[in-house]
Amino acid sequence: MSFKSLGLSEPLLKAIAKKGYETPSPIQAKAIPPVLEGKDVLASAQTGTGKTAGFTLPLLHFLSENPKEKYRPIRALILTPTRELAAQVFANVREYSEFLNIKSAVIFGGVNQKPQVAAIRQGVDVLVATPGRLIDLENQGLLSIKRVEVFVLDEADRMLDMGFLRDIERVMKLMPAKRQNLMFSATFSKDIKKLAYSILNNPVQVEATPENTAVEVIEQKVYRVAKTKKTGLIIKLISEGNWQQVLVFTRTKHGANRLTKKMVSAGISSAAIHGNKSQGARTKALAGFKSGKVRVLIATDIAARGLDIPLLPHVVNFELPNISEDYVHRIGRTGRAGASGEALSLVSADETLYLKNIEKLIAQKIPVDIVEGFEPDPNASTEPIKPGQNRQRSQGRRQNKPKSEGGSNSRNSNRNRNRNRNRRRNNDSRN
Ligand code: AMP
Repeated sequence: MSFKSLGLSEPLLKAIAKKGYETPSPIQAKAIPPVLEGKDVLASAQTGTGKTAGFTLPLLHFLSENPKEKYRPIRALILTPTRELAAQVFANVREYSEFLNIKSAVIFGGVNQKPQVAAIRQGVDVLVATPGRLIDLENQGLLSIKRVEVFVLDEADRMLDMGFLRDIERVMKLMPAKRQNLMFSATFSKDIKKLAYSILNNPVQVEATPENTAVEVIEQKVYRVAKTKKTGLIIKLISEGNWQQVLVFTRTKHGANRLTKKMVSAGISSAAIHGNKSQGARTKALAGFKSGKVRVLIATDIAARGLDIPLLPHVVNFELPNISEDYVHRIGRTGRAGASGEALSLVSADETLYLKNIEKLIAQKIPVDIVEGFEPDPNASTEPIKPGQNRQRSQGRRQNKPKSEGGSNSRNSNRNRNRNRNRRRNNDSRN
């Protein structure tokens, strides 16, 4: 199987060769033909499988082979849940369209809208957007998606987790009914299937990995440990293992900050990436991590979503996620492109239920280990930590805090109220 045999045009093949890709990844081989045929596609694929090229290449092929008038309406809309993912998808669109007469732009919140509006005014064929900023600019009359021919909903499961369902429904109403729809998701809950049903027409279903299963090349391990000893254990594992590039997940933004400070004090270069950080700080942390300057990147789930970090050897769950699907996303950061990876979880007594739920989802028992000197606390309660509860030091702090961490404005607050509270977390990085 080659990219050429998939029927992609010469300018695209040239861009693919420039990227150094030799053969299509499984999701690309499966998704590109039906997308080229103009069919709706529902794809099960995680980040790291090459899914971005899976939808971008055929989309660019279609747009360039069917050019429109000189005036450029937005003909393709790619909706992503986070700023980072939007930026990455946009970078890919630009690279793949280098030899085509296709213009693209990206819009997301948290930064000044002016340059984004200026880019759109020049005329763009492909717009990559996060839902909040897209609706904002549409409301201001600064863009129109009335002429969209291809709609891509990327990381649909994360969209729902972040409470974007209403926004997606609004976006759908702003586009013409006749269009091609592509939906990508790593996991398939009932809600995702319902959303797929409402968006897609007679879709072709493709999958790169079986539904809700952890990628097999990833070696998984659980360390049972007392909560108070987690920091010591992670420092020991990183130092003694001489790990040079580690992605660590915490459940909260404060947790990420606290752990970063402790790591730095222990002489391990670390940076945190989460929704309270400015876009500049997030970009800098990620660049440092990619270049090897920063050894440990400590992230909350949503901030880490979609990060393009090739060949990551180690992922550590400093805390397990309370939403089991997030575990699959997290460990999907390792073992990419056929390389093996290691995903470790530090599990204290209060995370016992989370672990059980995760094992149920992946239909796998994860091997357990205990490190001498970092044993679990036999007297600790197995009562789960409530989502949103800010752990050890929460009491005094929460009394002074009028708002939940996730709700930064009234629209968010309304949205939060409407959502299933059990699924809420306090580590959202909203757009
Ligand atoms: P994605 O899942 O879209 O985030 O892509 C994951 C990584 O795989 C990115 O760094 C891509 O540049 C890379 N990639 C995508 N397609 C291929 C391919 N056919 N061969 C090699 N690498 C690829």
